[in-house]
Amino acid sequence: DTYVVWFRNDFRFDDNPALKKALDAAEQTNGEILFVFHLHPDFTGQIDLSNDYFFQTVDNFSRQCEEAGMKLHIISGSVTEAFQQLFDQLSGIHTIFGAVEYTSFAAARDEEARSVIEKNGAYFEQTPGNYIHPPEDILKEDGSPYKVYTPYSRNWMQAEKPSLSSVTQKDLKSSYGTKETLDAESEKAWEKVVELCECTWQRLGEKEGRKRLEHFCKKVLPHYDESRDLPEKAGTSRLSPYLRTGSLSARRVFQAADSAREKQAAKGPETFIKELAWRDFYNMIFHQFPEVETKEFQEKYRELSWREDEDLLQKWKEGRTGFPIVDAGMRQLNKVGWMHNRLRMITASFLTKDYQMDWRIGEAYFREKLIDHDPASNSGGWQWSSSVGTDAAPYFRVFSPVRQGARFDPEGAFVKKYVPELKEVPVKFIHEPHKMKKEEQERAGCIIGKDYPEPSVDHKEERKRAIAMFKDLDTE
Ligand code: FAD
Repeated sequence: DTYVVWFRNDFRFDDNPALKKALDAAEQTNGEILFVFHLHPDFTGQIDLSNDYFFQTVDNFSRQCEEAGMKLHIISGSVTEAFQQLFDQLSGIHTIFGAVEYTSFAAARDEEARSVIEKNGAYFEQTPGNYIHPPEDILKEDGSPYKVYTPYSRNWMQAEKPSLSSVTQKDLKSSYGTKETLDAESEKAWEKVVELCECTWQRLGEKEGRKRLEHFCKKVLPHYDESRDLPEKAGTSRLSPYLRTGSLSARRVFQAADSAREKQAAKGPETFIKELAWRDFYNMIFHQFPEVETKEFQEKYRELSWREDEDLLQKWKEGRTGFPIVDAGMRQLNKVGWMHNRLRMITASFLTKDYQMDWRIGEAYFREKLIDHDPASNSGGWQWSSSVGTDAAPYFRVFSPVRQGARFDPEGAFVKKYVPELKEVPVKFIHEPHKMKKEEQERAGCIIGKDYPEPSVDHKEERKRAIAMFKDLDTE
């Protein structure tokens, strides 16, 4: 019998429940294991930052398999075609294992897969995804889902954590089936995709993920609670891209932070673990309330009259709003495919409150760019920032981009890094450069309106407008 592991978002050997299940089954029956990756036909050849990182992670994993004496087989075409062909080429497939994912896209894909797999007399088994607690683990006493983070996280903290699924590469290799190419055309199509990727990522894949985790736990975690809100400090883990591609196991990350919590008196580990719980929380919400993928969690805000303005939208996307901290955040996103959490909150609040634009537009832009794009956390983060989600920031508390800048980037170091035209602007004006007098602008080599834009809107006015827009629908 052959036991196939279908890799989707779990490109690692460490703590990978699908691998463990497949290997156990193969060892019990004297069977074989095989790895596949399905190149989806929806892929149009258009590679955004997010895809670039993802595909290069897959490529990295494929090489990792080769180095370990195994092979990641590529299949392509519609799900039905791809799997039918696999069954035609390979007899004796018993079960196909794949880690569960919670998007509507994944649900439809898996239903289609199940149907073709069962038609061929095999089984399709979903194994735990890359979460510490899957959505059904943490529920209220009456079995209903939580809608608020704090009580959820209390329960989450106390719940016993799942153990890790470990396998050795040696065992995997000795049960590995054919390394002969099964589908030359798909392999070719895949090579083309890899060629289209043009970013140079310094860090991706399982080995780098483990290194990053180790470095973070040693150097940053002890004071994470103090450094995590300051974008110019490397004060967060930057593990999100590894978690999103499954190069790192979320349970492994928890275990590392938990053991640091036991050893260190510092507050850092505890604060960090609470962030990991947010990821599970948003995933739980996404699973229990699938409508949040496109709709506001709070029904009363589903009819907000958002503004449409292509020109303003473009300014936001390109980081030319005239508000330095917003522009720095957007330029970081455009350049490196990642943005600091504080800036995600600031830029999201700016789009939805200062510009009163639909959060879905911002969410879609982040989806294209973020190398850690996660549908549940992205939707959760956008809905939180725009005051329409679970546990949301109340709509009348509108972030002031100037005050946020002064508080979280007091020296303007982060702004200067990503908005170089403001490099010589004195700290006093760094978050309001338009307040410089003519001579000061000249001295700083930054003429407002020419080298750097005037503020695109009047924050005080827009704040009032945003509040009024919400107030109209605020029925409670
Ligand atoms: P750390 O501070 O080191 O946190 C460790 C891990 O905890 C993160 O890697 C992440 O997995 C999890 N985490 C931390 N904060 C949150 C949070 N608020 N919500 C959910 N999980 C969290 N995160 C994504 O992974 N993908 C997204 O697409 C995404 N979109 C976002 C959009 C908006 C508008 C906002 C406000 C937040 C979004 N986040 C998203 C959450 C958060 O900004 C990132 O997880 C975090 O910045 C990643 O950096 P890090 O790994 O250094 O985080």
